[in-house]
Amino acid sequence: MEVIDLHCDVLEKLTRFEDAQFRNDPRIQANLTNLIKGQIKVQVFAIFISPDVPQERKFLEAARQIEAFHTKVLCEPEMVHITDWQQIQTLQEGQIGAVLSLEGCDCIGEDLTKLKLLLDAGVKLVGLTWNYENAVAYGASENPKRGLKPFAKEVIQLLNERDVIIDVAHLNEQGFYELLPMAKYLIASHCNVRALCDHPRNLTDNQIIQLIQNGGRMHVVFYPPFIEKEKDTTSIEKLVEHVAHLANLIGIEHIGFGSDFDGIDPLSVTNLSNAAEYRYLMHSLTKQFTNMEIETIAKNGFLNYVAKIGTRMDL
Ligand SMILES: [Zn+2]
Repeated sequence: MEVIDLHCDVLEKLTRFEDAQFRNDPRIQANLTNLIKGQIKVQVFAIFISPDVPQERKFLEAARQIEAFHTKVLCEPEMVHITDWQQIQTLQEGQIGAVLSLEGCDCIGEDLTKLKLLLDAGVKLVGLTWNYENAVAYGASENPKRGLKPFAKEVIQLLNERDVIIDVAHLNEQGFYELLPMAKYLIASHCNVRALCDHPRNLTDNQIIQLIQNGGRMHVVFYPPFIEKEKDTTSIEKLVEHVAHLANLIGIEHIGFGSDFDGIDPLSVTNLSNAAEYRYLMHSLTKQFTNMEIETIAKNGFLNYVAKIGTRMDL
């Protein structure tokens, strides 16, 4: 069954390991061979810059990751750069769509021109923060009462103008609720259910309901500590519990996947340690969901969502 995956950190690895290649490097969990085996139809590739990188070098790092996206990912003949969501519908058999996202606005500092450059390079999803404070907002690892900063208004306005999806993953609760009425398109690209696993990176049921009421989506993540509290490993069944909870809370149509492969290792879910093993997750889902429901979660719900992008005029 074909899958759309909204988050991986392959680009960070491709720049960290200078000799890494995308086709079948065993260090890369979402390498091309694994994407093919796991029947990934569209993979979102995050630009993620480690907080260890000094501020003055962060934008250069983002540029290096975009360079790696072109020279190591898009150079493979199977990969198609998705710069317009409607291109997904025209992907041929054997082709895989590749989308750029930005995981946190740290690298732009307070410079909107830098964000414009990233959008021009094809970034289609933008998270305002990673775990820590930047010029736009406070992150998920900080005081949940301190939300967006004044610069966020300019950033959100630009993202709305360009029909870019704003990713709420890594935002803290205050920032989340402030963002809801301001964003045109919203997604939690890699978050789980806090009612099942109490972690600030997971969303409360109230957040999840409000996210969907504001037109958003919720994509579950395969990081063990976000599936089972303080666990370094867990089972696919435990991950499916999050999917089942969401199915009851918001309905199948609004759920998807955002594995976070290459951002979560060395930790992994048993039998779900790379993109090729998506097939075991699909199999496990058949115990609770029909094939049509699984297709909706894996791909069709997101396709329906992006089909409407560009049609909303009220923000
Ligand atoms: Zn993340």
